[in-house]
Amino acid sequence: MSFSKIISQQKAIKMLKGTLVRNKIPGAFLFIGEPFIGKTTTAIEYVKALNCYNTKDDSCDICISCKKIDKGIHPDIKIIMPDKDIIPIETIRKIEEFISLQPLEGKYKAVIIKNAEKMNRAAANSFLKTLEEPPSNTVIILTCENTDSLPEPLISRTFKIYFKPLSTEAIKKLIPLQEKYEELIRLSMGRPGIFESFDLVKKINFFIDSLQVKKIKKSPWKDNEELKWWFEFLFIVIRDQICLKIRGAENHIHLPIKFRENLLLEDLFEIYDRLQEIRKNIDLNLNRAIVWNYISKTLRSVINE
Ligand SMILES: [Zn+2]
Repeated sequence: MSFSKIISQQKAIKMLKGTLVRNKIPGAFLFIGEPFIGKTTTAIEYVKALNCYNTKDDSCDICISCKKIDKGIHPDIKIIMPDKDIIPIETIRKIEEFISLQPLEGKYKAVIIKNAEKMNRAAANSFLKTLEEPPSNTVIILTCENTDSLPEPLISRTFKIYFKPLSTEAIKKLIPLQEKYEELIRLSMGRPGIFESFDLVKKINFFIDSLQVKKIKKSPWKDNEELKWWFEFLFIVIRDQICLKIRGAENHIHLPIKFRENLLLEDLFEIYDRLQEIRKNIDLNLNRAIVWNYISKTLRSVINE
């Protein structure tokens, strides 16, 4: 898709392009920003640009290298995601082994590690030396929501790039959606990845189905990532209800569930705050069954069944 198609991250892209133009490629990057904001997409474009046969400071999208990376079949590129919410030391060892070998066909070997904050302490510590001095022609890109849970020595060994939430206009350009969901975009607080990282319709349907709380006995989420974007949808819906109370019915999201009419604004704020607290703790390995128990009880208290 090339850098030009990444919207509203001009500052991040300018810095990345600068490294390509000057041919000063840092061995390790840290991409910092909220979930679903374009960090991984940008990381992939950067890795494509590094290996592109046609262009130096961007990806061409049409050469064999760009195409292979897009399809996820380039032998020199790896994308790592947490497994059951953890990146263990074994994964780091495998990465180190992978980058210790020369590139097979690319100019650069690259590893993108999503949610680097999921490295446990042993993994993070064992990775420090590699991050300080990765083999030549190797780029490691770590992404994280914030740097709070990363050890300082790890942060200081990386080249940091910050990602900002997008404007509503920018998101609209990116996602031509049915009008019905326009309000979902408006209330999504600048995180287009909520909509594009999986099939949007599937996601919305899953979310809406899961609001039939009476029918669902078990936690519907298969992992914490799913739980996280599910929460994002729920926050959008609650914010929408709050706006509805304050401003009346204009522009409101139409859902197949109905909130109780006698709900007070304070009730909604209170629920919002309580759910925010849970959301903040998802990374602390909350038990999803217990979370569902709590949320379904909360929802049943505010939804007409
Ligand atoms: Zn190319």
